[in-house]
Amino acid sequence: MTTDTYGALVSKQREIKLLGGVSGLLGWDQETYMPHKAGEVRAEQLALLAGLIHDRVAAPEIGDLLGKLEKGALEPGKAAVVRETRRVFDREVKIPKELVEEMARTTSRAQEAWAKARKEKDFPSFAPWLEKVIDLKKRAAKLLALPGQDLYDALLDDYEPGCTVKELTALFEGLEKKLVPLVKKIQASSKKPRIDVLERNYPRAKQEEFGRLVAADMGFDFEGGRLDVSAHPFCSGLSPDDVRITTRYAENDLTGSLFGIMHEAGHGLYEQGLDRTHFGTPLAEACSTGVHESQSRLWENMVGRSRPFWKHYYPKLRGVFPDQLADVPEEDFLLAVNDVRPSFIRTEADEVTYNLHVLLRFEVERDLLSGKLRVNDLPAFWNKKLEKLLGIVPPDDSQGCLQDIHWSFGLFAYFPTYTLGNCYAAQFYAKARGELDLDARLARGDLKPLREWLRKNVHERGQLYRPKELVERVTGKPPSSEAFTSYLEAKYGALFGF
Ligand code: ZN
Repeated sequence: MTTDTYGALVSKQREIKLLGGVSGLLGWDQETYMPHKAGEVRAEQLALLAGLIHDRVAAPEIGDLLGKLEKGALEPGKAAVVRETRRVFDREVKIPKELVEEMARTTSRAQEAWAKARKEKDFPSFAPWLEKVIDLKKRAAKLLALPGQDLYDALLDDYEPGCTVKELTALFEGLEKKLVPLVKKIQASSKKPRIDVLERNYPRAKQEEFGRLVAADMGFDFEGGRLDVSAHPFCSGLSPDDVRITTRYAENDLTGSLFGIMHEAGHGLYEQGLDRTHFGTPLAEACSTGVHESQSRLWENMVGRSRPFWKHYYPKLRGVFPDQLADVPEEDFLLAVNDVRPSFIRTEADEVTYNLHVLLRFEVERDLLSGKLRVNDLPAFWNKKLEKLLGIVPPDDSQGCLQDIHWSFGLFAYFPTYTLGNCYAAQFYAKARGELDLDARLARGDLKPLREWLRKNVHERGQLYRPKELVERVTGKPPSSEAFTSYLEAKYGALFGF
């Protein structure tokens, strides 16, 4: 009887996942090949699907099936499916349709106001919209919060179930303590990377050829995936056998497209590695946003910017661009792809300073939500904190608190998942290095054992465990910033000679 009930739940979930795939395909098309004029009808198509999906996720039948299953004893896999389905179901039914619609209306207009304000460097014109979005997020958080739960934690649950503002505060404190002095040390080093060598003319077709080679070596399956071009790179997993990644090319930027491909292929390997037998259920879904990001950052930074990786790939890259790289020794190239310097824009930041940009955003949204920080005081708060962290002050708000689209979208409590991804990645990477002879393998271009290790330890497990438990089971330690800061100190100390 339990088996039938469980089977009924799974077949509903498969339908929801199939609908999600249809919606994902429309979204992918919109970012890649859709003719410009189709925008309006595409928005209607996506809204219609979003409504159909919501109705199915929050259907009373799902609640009935969960109620029945929760009465019996279940083996761990099924118990995880019930636990995660219950979590999402309860959240969906707590938010009234009227609030969902108001959020959609407000954020659509807030995005327009943000785009205009950013262009005109005019924070005051965006401020009332930001206030409206925050009010709506607060309303949602109050409905979602469990008794005694912090409002920020209630929002965090959408991306990183079980993670708390308290843990994040400790994590970021650990990062600030180590990273601020590390940036200063690198700045003071006499070694100055020649970043101009990456800005010569590198024809697009050749960049693509090299990027595809690396993605295939990583184990990205092009029979079950694609690589295309979009303005903002992304990865869309429609099913484990249909995973679409994108990048963008600039001919005066050699590595932007490559690291974009490695990043998105890291996400793509996760999607391709999910367990097909549980398709549609939480056992075949990524553990969390942070764990997803750990996979992309691990490949992009820990592998893609490492010395052993370039030992094998630099001669190959030179073969593709013999003229452009003729006067660039491997050591100079390695230093150039590991350039570290304080900058204003998060998306352009290096591996070390990046997390200080995230820290700033975490503090802003935490304090906006708790009421400690007022919207009108945001620019001053931002500039003061950036100066404390990186020693620089943005010349205007477009390069400061207006640079990210997230808040106008209603994305709150999302930023920390970028840094959680880096911290988890460092913990996974340290463990994998201990278990595989990783540096020697990378130096031979033998990348697949790492994919296999990640597949077994992370990908195939889906949502069997919550992120914190997954990290602890795989690495033997709870999530923290330690492995990440040790990795950075060792790597940059060796590169910059301190
Ligand atoms: Zn990513």
